[in-house]
Amino acid sequence: MSELLVPAQISNVTTVDPGEVRIVELSLPSQWKIENVWYPVLDTMRPGTAFLAKPWGARTEKWRRRMYTRSNMIIESAHVLETIINNTHTDKSDTSVWWQSDDVLAWLKTGHPIDIRVQWNDSHSALQIYENCRQCQHNNLRLEPDGEWGQMRVVALALSTGITPFLACLRYMKHLKFGRTSVNPGACVTLIVSVQHEQQLMAHEELLAMQCEFPENFYYHPVLTKSWPKDWDFTTGRIIRTQSTSEGHEVIDVRPLLSVCPDIHQRHVRFCGNTTARNQLQKGLQQEGINPLSFRGEVW
Ligand SMILES: Cc1cc2nc3c(=O)[nH]c(=O)nc-3n(C[C@H](O)[C@H](O)[C@H](O)COP(=O)(O)OP(=O)(O)OC[C@H]3O[C@@H](n4cnc5c(N)ncnc54)[C@H](O)[C@@H]3O)c2cc1C
Repeated sequence: MSELLVPAQISNVTTVDPGEVRIVELSLPSQWKIENVWYPVLDTMRPGTAFLAKPWGARTEKWRRRMYTRSNMIIESAHVLETIINNTHTDKSDTSVWWQSDDVLAWLKTGHPIDIRVQWNDSHSALQIYENCRQCQHNNLRLEPDGEWGQMRVVALALSTGITPFLACLRYMKHLKFGRTSVNPGACVTLIVSVQHEQQLMAHEELLAMQCEFPENFYYHPVLTKSWPKDWDFTTGRIIRTQSTSEGHEVIDVRPLLSVCPDIHQRHVRFCGNTTARNQLQKGLQQEGINPLSFRGEVW
């Protein structure tokens, strides 16, 4: 059976860093007609998951199929898929360059559609937005079931647009008061976000405000790697560093990370970024003899 697609409109574009990073919002209709029958389009996406869109490829000049992690969540914005897209600057960069182009601003104005993949629900009575994973696994960041995450101590490390799945999870957790009850102090989450310079920080004010509102549940630590203001209160330079020994072995220095999160061995570690950094994090913890409660990481 052919893939089911529903057209979305680009409903908002925020340029975080020109040519590099944009926050894009895609709005889906609440119902869609297939063979003359209207079906509801259900938004059931779990925080931490990704949807599939068909953007334009600037290099190949074709429609492409690409996954994007959602950064908002259904309670506050059903049918509006917010994501954060960066320019990957690789030889094969195709859609990631296009997302930074003026075309996208023109499509925002004209309402030119972008297709989003949907699928039938179990009873074949409605369409639901396709999500990349249905179960929590070591290589994805789908949020643990409700009732489970509220008991967890987590440290999340996000490199650049790797903040996206954590934003969806944190916005959801905040909505549910981090799972606090009269008997449970709720989840405890440290979010470390690493970007090159201050302008690339996403949802910075929102995360600072979240920390003020839930100081016992949430700590936000933004790291700047290339340039920083003189009075920057947080880590500067890379949070995980590498050195080569005289014998040519790679030694990973996780001390900057441990200074932000000294109890990492008592935490569930979550990572989103590139493969090299994920491997360095795992190797660095191993070299220090640190075994976190669990490790889940998504790489793009
Ligand atoms: C679960 C998931 C979630 C994601 N979430 C986000 C997100 O929130 N934000 C974001 O910015 N990105 C995200 N991505 C990455 C995103 O889907 C794109 O891969 C990324 O934006 C780069 O797209 P691109 O078209 O520029 O290039 P690519 O997707 O890197 O590659 C372009 C094309 O080149 C092909 N190709 C690969 N190797 C070669 C080669 N050696 N020679 C020729 N062609 C080759 C690929 O098959 C592909 O068709 C996610 C990916 C996944 C899997």
